[in-house]
Amino acid sequence: MKNIGILGAGQLARMLALAGLPLEMRFGFYDTTGNPSVGLDPVLIDVDAIPSNPALQTFIEASDLVTYEFEHLPLPVLKYIEEKVTIYPPVRSIEICQDRAKEKALFTELAIPTPAYRIVESEAALVTAVAELGTPLVSKTTTDGYDGKGQFIIKNPDQAKEAWQAIGGRPLIVEAFVNFSRELSVIAARASTGEVKIYPLAENEHHEGILRYSTAPAPHIAEETERQAKLYIQELIESLGHVGILTLELFETPNGLLANEMAPRVHNSGHWSIEGAHVSQFENHLRAISGLPLGDTQATRPTCMLNIIGNKGDINAIMALPYAHIHLYDKEERPGRKLGHVNVQADSYEELVWRVNNVAAYLPGAGNYQLKS
Ligand code: AMP
Repeated sequence: MKNIGILGAGQLARMLALAGLPLEMRFGFYDTTGNPSVGLDPVLIDVDAIPSNPALQTFIEASDLVTYEFEHLPLPVLKYIEEKVTIYPPVRSIEICQDRAKEKALFTELAIPTPAYRIVESEAALVTAVAELGTPLVSKTTTDGYDGKGQFIIKNPDQAKEAWQAIGGRPLIVEAFVNFSRELSVIAARASTGEVKIYPLAENEHHEGILRYSTAPAPHIAEETERQAKLYIQELIESLGHVGILTLELFETPNGLLANEMAPRVHNSGHWSIEGAHVSQFENHLRAISGLPLGDTQATRPTCMLNIIGNKGDINAIMALPYAHIHLYDKEERPGRKLGHVNVQADSYEELVWRVNNVAAYLPGAGNYQLKS
């Protein structure tokens, strides 16, 4: 039996615990937002997140092993915890993944293609970068951005100043706007023994920067695309010495894949694996960090995960559909908030599209589900 401390107390922490309980693991959560939604005890709340806080001491003492559900954590706190108890994935993975500049540098070092980019720290540098790269461009804060927050699309060079005013005053990355044919992600688990298992690629559809649908295995993936995606994540996970789940988001273009960003943790585009794979990303993360054998990452059937965003819609009607697996996160409704997801499986992609649209019909704003290819 292992006591696992999770830094963060949102839905990812919740789903990790739900996967770990059958493996006789116990969980405690450490929340730095003052707004934990995990719905499970014990949660220690410590919004200041400084080493001398008693809540942190209690959390460390209760944990045999610490992991995390999100990477935007203060490094001094992580380094402090690391001196007392093992943190997996290692802090180096967070250090790189919480800073887009470091992440891009690693992609470049490993010859993993990414959109052309510049890092800028002033309005003047942004203006120069825009002139050099040409428009359209996407500017993003190098740290703390997620779900499209902290992003500004520069459609013409005149907008460089506007972009700096909107999200600047801090380092930005400005990168070529990619006309991708679709967004893909690949998720891998690595154990401390070096064993790596990779999930099939997922096809992801975003709306207003927020993931709406993930379909796995991504339909009609060229063998070469699959090979490249798996090679890139294998190189990343090994070069980081990562232990646990690592996610890589990619753009598929006619000229091959481009890496967008990575996350050193379980990921929304892997929620399909709860029903859709032999062993889910959550269970494999826990197995990897606890020194247990990794489980089979293969998909059992075509699966789609559809996020419930902002409004739970007619959840009872969804429950009545025999193919809908509902996962709710115990959160209050709020525009743009991820409240849960539904996993749907089918024997063919045609049937999957039909089933998912039947679910989406009960979720306001879910839109129409279509596969890209
Ligand atoms: P990110 O926070 O980098 O994952 O960006 C959120 C979403 O914005 C992505 O999933 C894409 O849909 C879109 N996006 C980000 N970067 C680019 C880019 N360089 N070109 C086109 N779309 C992008």
